[in-house]
Amino acid sequence: MTRRILIAGNWKMNTRSAAAASLAKGVVEAVGKSPAVEIALCPPSVYLATVSEVTAGTPVELGAQNLYAAEDGAFTGEVNAAMLTDVGCQFVILGHSERRQLMGETDACVSKKLHAALAGNLTPIVCVGETLEQREADETESVIETQIRGSLEGLDEARAAGIVIAYEPVWAIGTGKVASKEQAEAVHAFIRDLLGKMFTPDVAEQIRIQYGGSVKPGNAAELLSQPNIDGALVGGASLKAEDFAGIINAAP
Ligand code: PGA
Repeated sequence: MTRRILIAGNWKMNTRSAAAASLAKGVVEAVGKSPAVEIALCPPSVYLATVSEVTAGTPVELGAQNLYAAEDGAFTGEVNAAMLTDVGCQFVILGHSERRQLMGETDACVSKKLHAALAGNLTPIVCVGETLEQREADETESVIETQIRGSLEGLDEARAAGIVIAYEPVWAIGTGKVASKEQAEAVHAFIRDLLGKMFTPDVAEQIRIQYGGSVKPGNAAELLSQPNIDGALVGGASLKAEDFAGIINAAP
């Protein structure tokens, strides 16, 4: 089973409209017409349309950083799946650790969003990851298992193969501390095994598992060459077209 590598840039709460457009242009130019890997940019929601104008008709896809799991209605400040596809999104990041920590998102909340994303034809990128404290207490696997089982609650086999999981150890996000390729591969293999038990081994073989946490051009090649690492969710290094392109080019 060959899973196509997915490199996604999570711009978080950064850029302004002019910077978003020029960053997207830089990526589109660097990527060319037929990149070997799948590429997505996830700008702040207010700049999705700006970036979409640049990426439309190119191989670079678009993703949002969050959604609200409801149809149109009285939900002040929120954006739903239909709006995201309307503006050109194919992907949506869900349950990022910053949202879990700062906005109190729970696994149950991520699961609701997952179903809304799938119903709206968006590919969810479901983020999981342990804190440093949890890793040191040897709780990594139990924390990841709880997050995955909870966030994927109610997901059927037929739809499971199309989702993306992002393993992002919280201690490696924005810290410059990257998980070693052995540490990352061990958790990815654990996740794939767990997915095999939750669905079927065949479905688990199809699910892409990205690594995230201080991925840079200099460490991308060794991470992306691990058998169970199927891409990267890139924060800081996605804010410079040159660095993001360096990560894309490091894919095996
Ligand atoms: P980072 O962020 O690459 O800046 O560590 C990754 C992420 O939070 O998705």
